Amino acid sequence: LAEPGGAPRPTIFAEMTALAQREGAVNLGQGFPDVDGPEWIREAAVQAIRDGVNQYAPGAGLPPLREAIAAHQREHYGIAVDPDTQVLATTGATEAIAASILALAGPGEEVLTIEPYYDSYAASIAMAGATHTTVPLIPTAEGFRLDTEALRGAVTDRTRLILVNTPHNPTGTVLRRPELEAIAEQARRVDAVVITDEVYEHLTYDGAAHLPMAALPGMGERTLTISSSGKTFSLTGWKVGWVTGPAHLITAVSTVKQFLTYTSGAPFQIAIARALTEGRADVSALREGLQRRRDLLVAGLREVGFGAVVPEGTYFVCADASPFLTPQLPDGAALARALPRLAGVAGVPISAFCVPGSDTADALGSWLRFTFVKREDVLAEGIERLGRLT
Ligand code: PMP
Ligand code: GLN
Repeated sequence: LAEPGGAPRPTIFAEMTALAQREGAVNLGQGFPDVDGPEWIREAAVQAIRDGVNQYAPGAGLPPLREAIAAHQREHYGIAVDPDTQVLATTGATEAIAASILALAGPGEEVLTIEPYYDSYAASIAMAGATHTTVPLIPTAEGFRLDTEALRGAVTDRTRLILVNTPHNPTGTVLRRPELEAIAEQARRVDAVVITDEVYEHLTYDGAAHLPMAALPGMGERTLTISSSGKTFSLTGWKVGWVTGPAHLITAVSTVKQFLTYTSGAPFQIAIARALTEGRADVSALREGLQRRRDLLVAGLREVGFGAVVPEGTYFVCADASPFLTPQLPDGAALARALPRLAGVAGVPISAFCVPGSDTADALGSWLRFTFVKREDVLAEGIERLGRLT
């Protein structure tokens, strides 16, 4: 796991949070909300515990959660899944990602990800003994966009899985229909399975619409769709995630999941089943609040001198820190490690989301990621502190 393409230990997020705590810095590094999700959802978990939902749930997840997930896919995207055979509840999206990769890829097979990529992908691919290949997102006037030319070259007859993430961490890109169609075309060409990580599906801004890969014609039969309640309901510590898709693929993923965690936390499943069914207004309010905070952070970073790209979704803004690099702090990784001490703010270097030494790591070597899923006063304090850098 420490090889090129592997994940750092501890993760970059844990490292930056620990550094922020040590230096008393404003933590705009790790993406977790500083305001908990709705009280009525938290009360639903308390009630489930009082009601005696405290023993092992079925391996696939409690029926009300599986039914709520199937209804969510149908009502939001017109995707039909059978709650009994095509839905698996997991311990966060992280377990769904690991179990899917472990189930479907192995030595001699390639798993393609979009670089920069979320750190657990490289670790899970390494644990499966598969080969990690990547296709870049490149900065353009329309934000970070998929290099569809490179995509065609990156997909080979050894490509077993294409791992898509939209809305995308860390860039905030919401993949558009032509980008998704280009991926679908390549998946069909080499008969690969697509895994999509859609944990930020409801956190999109300025009307940008999240389009799930499984909603594209003919893609439902070769796509595993992963999501999680952590971001949608600001309850990242509950770790209720899920994966949906064709029954034969879900069976394969379930086979792995049963020996990773066996089952996932029962009372939280009951509460998230209710949240998915009755929480639409809360999700809309979260999205509106986040868009306001995104605008605050983008404007503040630009004012201070960073080249910030406006994200279409997620919790994150990517910012070019070139103006702040010096011979002593020659790249984003060095700057990120010094920032808590220098400015009292923590961010994450984009190179941590790249294969070490890759062209993308190089191209985005001066970039940092900052999160805006913090209270407005916290963001304002962070921006004021960053202003001291100049
Ligand atoms: N995928 C992405 C893109 C993420 O940003 C995260 C973490 N926030 C996860 C997966 C993990 O989600 P969970 O906490 O549900 O395991
Ligand atoms: N997904 C969150 C982020 O990108 C953090 C999750 C973690 O710490 N592994 O910041």
